[in-house]
Amino acid sequence: MRESWQERFAETPDVLLGERHCRTSVPVLDFTVGGDEFITMAGPCSVETEIQLMATAHRVRRRGARVLRGGAFKPRSSPYAFQGLGLGGLKLLAAAREETGLAVVTEVMSEDDVPLVAEYADILQIGSRSMENDTLLEAAARSGKPILLKRGMVATIADLLRSAQLILSEGNPNVILCERGIRTFETTMRNTFDAAGIALLKQITHLPVIADPSHASGHRDLVPVLARIGVAAGADGLLVEVHPNPDEAWSDGEQSLDFEEFDAMMGALDPWIALRGRALHEEELEQRELAGLRLAEAVG
Ligand code: PEP
Ligand code: MN
Repeated sequence: MRESWQERFAETPDVLLGERHCRTSVPVLDFTVGGDEFITMAGPCSVETEIQLMATAHRVRRRGARVLRGGAFKPRSSPYAFQGLGLGGLKLLAAAREETGLAVVTEVMSEDDVPLVAEYADILQIGSRSMENDTLLEAAARSGKPILLKRGMVATIADLLRSAQLILSEGNPNVILCERGIRTFETTMRNTFDAAGIALLKQITHLPVIADPSHASGHRDLVPVLARIGVAAGADGLLVEVHPNPDEAWSDGEQSLDFEEFDAMMGALDPWIALRGRALHEEELEQRELAGLRLAEAVG
């Protein structure tokens, strides 16, 4: 007989969707991730200057973003590359929240930094390179903040679910999964975007799933189409890099959208986001019907 998903992922029962767990909506400021609203998280790869961050925050907010992204502690491929502004970056993010009302997501790289980052951020980002750092995951979980868990670049779906399970088992239910591309034999793009992974995660887990088309592709020209694929695969939101002048960005400029490109992408996504809303509505009707049938069976 064919192995069920429940059997296949029996090691991580708390993340699985089923009779024991209905869908999780993660509360952040005045909205939720994983509910009816499609949530866009946008901003620069790294926080660089006040002008850069404020201009970006205002602009992405105008086009419907709810969350400002921006790294203050940066994991980099080279030890000589820009490592982030640290506390200065966190303070700029908090100032941007104050001015715009956007929530803030930013990466925490070390367990020692969790209390500091949690003081400034609304969502703690666990980066791809840290997905299997259990002590960091436990410390982040215990902060009580929502966790944006990025899939490791060589992590399987089962590995990602194990890390999510660890956070849940520390008593923090507010986990958002993020597909950001994985390493494969294909090296033309920075990573290979696993759209099927998004579809599967939405099918088997109760956790919100968001797509990061920026790191998945590494090329700004591909970002809008990957974003659309993410929505079509069932993602609850996007994490996307936007910069006032991508060619001058201190990190990841080649995959960052400028303001016009971001506006155009969001405009083109509108009909797809509307379709997602309809699909959710249908799922809810099915669930209600199922619950009605179960009740009828139970009653006799
Ligand atoms: C980022 O979001 O800027 C980042 C470093 O992402 P990842 O951990 O997915 O590489
Ligand atoms: Mn980046």
